[in-house]
Parts: sequence; C-alpha cells; structure tokens
Amino acid sequence: MDGASTLTGRCLCSSVRYRCGALLYPATWCHCESCRRASGTAPVGWFTVALASVEFHGDSLRVHRSSPGVERRFCSVCGTPLTYWSEQRPTEIDFTLGSLDEPDRVTPVDHIWMADAPDWDRPTDGLPQHAGLRPTTLR
Ligand SMILES: [Zn+2]
Ligand SMILES: [Zn+2]
Repeated sequence: MDGASTLTGRCLCSSVRYRCGALLYPATWCHCESCRRASGTAPVGWFTVALASVEFHGDSLRVHRSSPGVERRFCSVCGTPLTYWSEQRPTEIDFTLGSLDEPDRVTPVDHIWMADAPDWDRPTDGLPQHAGLRPTTLR
C-alpha cells in the first residue's frame, strides 16, 4: 500500500485499529437521522475508501444492522462508531472522520441529508448542502 495515501485510525479505547487506502470521493458531513442516533450527535463526518483496502486490528469490532442491507461497525468496548457499509455500494466502506489518527488529512466538502437535520443542526460553513444524498454528478 502506498504510504502517502494510507490512512490509519482507531476507536477511543484503541481496542480497534484500522488502516485503509485513499479516499474514493471527497468526505462529507451526514445529517441523516440514522447517523444522528448511531452517534448520539449530528452531523457525522464520513470518508469513503475501497473495502478491499481496509485492514482491521483487534477483536472488539462489532456490527449493528441499522437498516436493511446496512452494517454499522463500532467498538464493543468503548462504543466508538467506526464504519458504515451498504449493500448498495458493496465494494466501498465509509469511516468516521473523527476516528482518524490524523484528522486534518481529510476535509469534508459538503453536507448531505439536510432534510433530516434538526433546527439546531444548521451549518454556517458555506459548504453546499444537499437535502438527501450528494448528487451523483458531483461524485
Ligand atoms: Zn474502543
Ligand atoms: Zn447518515
């Protein structure tokens, strides 16, 4: 794996560590209800990499199927949300921005699922805001 594009991260308690390849798309802020409930706050920053580029270390990774065809993985010791995977995009996986060892290496470029956002979750950073998913023309 190319060291310059390799990203690493971990959960709060370090029971789970990961290593993955470069981003497939620019990162985003997700404001959907599912992310809000899974994290306990909003929004949640995500970046997307190739599933085949991912290595996990540690035995505390657990999965919760939060919607049909959707798997959210988290640390069973400390509860940190780590990944989102959907059968709609089976060769990709999303990681939480906050779990990166070097979070400044990835910067979100927009906001998605604003239709779900509570009144107190209104970004003022000037980035584009999409009611649902990012339009595919921007991917
Ligand atoms: Zn942990
Ligand atoms: Zn979401």
